[in-house]
Amino acid sequence: MTAAKHVIVIGAGIIGASIAWHLTKAGAQVTVIADSPLGGVATPNSFAWINASWGNPEPYFRLRIRAMAEWKRLANDLPGLPVAWCGGLNWDLPADRLEAYAAEHYSWGYGIERVGREQVARIEPNLTEFPDFALHVAEEGVAEPVATATALLAEAERHGARVLSSTVTALVQTDGRITGVDTSHGLFAADEVVIAAGVGSPDIAATAGISLPIETPPGLIVHSRPYKKLLNGLVHADKLHMRQTAEGRIIAGSDFAGGDPGENPEVTARDLFAMVKAALRDAEGLELDFHTIGYRPNPIDGFPIIGRAEGMDGVYVAVLHSGITLAPAVGLFATREILDGERDPLLAPYGLSRFAQ
Ligand SMILES: Cc1cc2nc3c(=O)[nH]c(=O)nc-3n(C[C@H](O)[C@H](O)[C@H](O)COP(=O)(O)OP(=O)(O)OC[C@H]3O[C@@H](n4cnc5c(N)ncnc54)[C@H](O)[C@@H]3O)c2cc1C
Repeated sequence: MTAAKHVIVIGAGIIGASIAWHLTKAGAQVTVIADSPLGGVATPNSFAWINASWGNPEPYFRLRIRAMAEWKRLANDLPGLPVAWCGGLNWDLPADRLEAYAAEHYSWGYGIERVGREQVARIEPNLTEFPDFALHVAEEGVAEPVATATALLAEAERHGARVLSSTVTALVQTDGRITGVDTSHGLFAADEVVIAAGVGSPDIAATAGISLPIETPPGLIVHSRPYKKLLNGLVHADKLHMRQTAEGRIIAGSDFAGGDPGENPEVTARDLFAMVKAALRDAEGLELDFHTIGYRPNPIDGFPIIGRAEGMDGVYVAVLHSGITLAPAVGLFATREILDGERDPLLAPYGLSRFAQ
């Protein structure tokens, strides 16, 4: 019997957690190393909408649709994961673009439906204003991101993974391959190292001469105190994207990816929250609790970086925005590639080599 492959996963956000869980389940010996609380850094500040919605070319749509199916598989494997298929309403595009998006995604097989004022009112009766026309996708959902990442890490630990709190300072190279990491607690050896460190990834990769071209735009989200049920699903109204969490908080951004915090984030948050209250009936008692500013690990072309670094064995990279949507597919595909050498065809456009020229 060959020994289980030992893999170090750097990062305890939704991506590191999913990869660690999938690797452990497939029989690898896994060590997660992170310098944040469990649940990560960008992950707790996410809007956490699971979707294959507008603005993406077809290959990326296909990856996202697959990831939505993989969420269902994951939720079956781990009953109790806080994932909800609550559906999403959208009218935050000019009418012609909304129509074009509906026609295109419908032709690709997305479960998108045109809805009028009465249907919107039936789906979300607590809105103060209903648009004449919106799009509804019943198959969209949300995952409570920290609870999900924490549950995946706990399950991985239960099956033998180790989770360590430490800062990775460098990748360790031996004879042209990565053989471990140097950390604030000393050296750790491994057969393969996964960089799933969000915005911390480029600094780690650079220690082995690997360039990860990402940008890290901020996004502000407001969180109300827990409140009675006002929203059934996701609402993407004109510059106001909202949902209600499992805990009962209304969370919102001027965009689901978080709005620009502006010069004074406190004022931006208060103004945004006033819009939330104005958009909802029966919200007199709704109170702003706090706001978050998250930094998105966005590869510069907007698409994920998932795969091995060319010219350097022993290191696998998983850095992406839309990490909540994609986490189960990334975990599964990374595991197959790391343990069996099989690269899923859906990942073809998302290797690091695309930035080489
Ligand atoms: C405002 C906002 C809204 C968003 N909305 C959505 C959405 O609606 N839908 C969606 O799909 N996605 C959304 N995203 C994107 C999504 O949240 C991210 O893609 C995802 O959370 C990234 O997860 P991650 O695990 O890669 O990173 P993180 O959660 O940032 O985790 C990184 C981990 O790496 C560790 N780390 C970093 N450097 C080191 C080091 N040197 N040593 C040790 N550990 C290290 C950190 O401690 C942390 O544990 C949103 C993001 C933001 C900010």
